[in-house]
Amino acid sequence: MSAPRLEIRLDRIHHNAATLVTRLARRGVSVTGVTKATLGSPEVAREMVAAGVAALGDSRIENIEAMRRAGVPGPMTLLRSPMLSQVDRVVAAADVSCNSEFDVLSRLSAAASEQRRPHGVVLMVELGDLREGLLPEDLEAAARYVLALPGIGLHGIGTNLACQSGVVPDARNMAELSALASSLESALGTKLAVVSGGNSANLDWVFGSEDLGRIDDLRLGESILLGCEPLRRRPIDGLHTDAFTLVAEVIESKPKPSKARGSIEQTAFGRQVATVDRGEMHRVIVAIGRADVDPDGIVAPAGTTILGGSSDHLVLDAGPRPPGVGAELSFQLDYRALLRAMTSPYVTREFSGATAPATR
Ligand SMILES: *Cc1c(COP(=O)(O)O)cnc(C)c1O
Repeated sequence: MSAPRLEIRLDRIHHNAATLVTRLARRGVSVTGVTKATLGSPEVAREMVAAGVAALGDSRIENIEAMRRAGVPGPMTLLRSPMLSQVDRVVAAADVSCNSEFDVLSRLSAAASEQRRPHGVVLMVELGDLREGLLPEDLEAAARYVLALPGIGLHGIGTNLACQSGVVPDARNMAELSALASSLESALGTKLAVVSGGNSANLDWVFGSEDLGRIDDLRLGESILLGCEPLRRRPIDGLHTDAFTLVAEVIESKPKPSKARGSIEQTAFGRQVATVDRGEMHRVIVAIGRADVDPDGIVAPAGTTILGGSSDHLVLDAGPRPPGVGAELSFQLDYRALLRAMTSPYVTREFSGATAPATR
């Protein structure tokens, strides 16, 4: 098998998605399964659909198009505001998109009318995290604008927290979203199909709250894929945290000094490191680097310690049982490391444990 590779356990992703779907269904909340960290992998998407997600969400139209081409069933939502230059593709491939700009809404309307393909709009509201979203006082005007345009319909409203500024979803900002949903419905005399409360960072709030108000949907990526919540990156009870493993190959394995020799300036990536003399250690070089993964986001095998990484080399203190040249080492990944590994052309993917039927 080739290295480096990502080993992807589809049965574990299925289990995580199904568990969250069930737990949230008890609270009246549906799940939009978010595929963007896997580049819209049809294999992963099919497991999410088979596990009962109500829709799939991705921030890139390219990923949604890839899932469509692979025959992945079900509704798909573009999570990032459409680029004006992509509105035609958005209408053609996605059923719904998240929006916060009047100009985009008007162009979506034109594209949807021309293609005779109805398109749903989720208006995103800014509730403190300062990434995307209309200011709350502009929401009603935007909703009226959508209702007046041909070809597009008002699917719902949503918000996104804990991304740009780390703002925690809590009773106050979630109640604000609920109140906006209710006042919008009474002002416009329409019913919103979806009030989307946020992402994996909302799970603590959901499971720790009596009353979820109007929130009836969450868009979940990290919690399904990695089994952890993103506020403090704690594992979620009953979920697998090891659906993804990065496997890489040892290309050098030798006892060497622990302290660097010579006068010291910046490393290849602009850091200043001070090595400490701890005598001789067994060092191994693994054939992965920043071109494959974010070395700050991986966990080394037990007994070994990551000493540093450059573009193509990862250096480890091999500990008491050093692996030889040609041996494979396995690493766990966090979200940023997973995203990098998935987007690297050097890292192959090895899927196993598929439970969902192939679609094409
Ligand atoms: C990425 C993204 C999500 C999913 O976030 P996770 O923390 O992976 O659950 C949800 N909503 C939007 C708008 C996103 O961009």
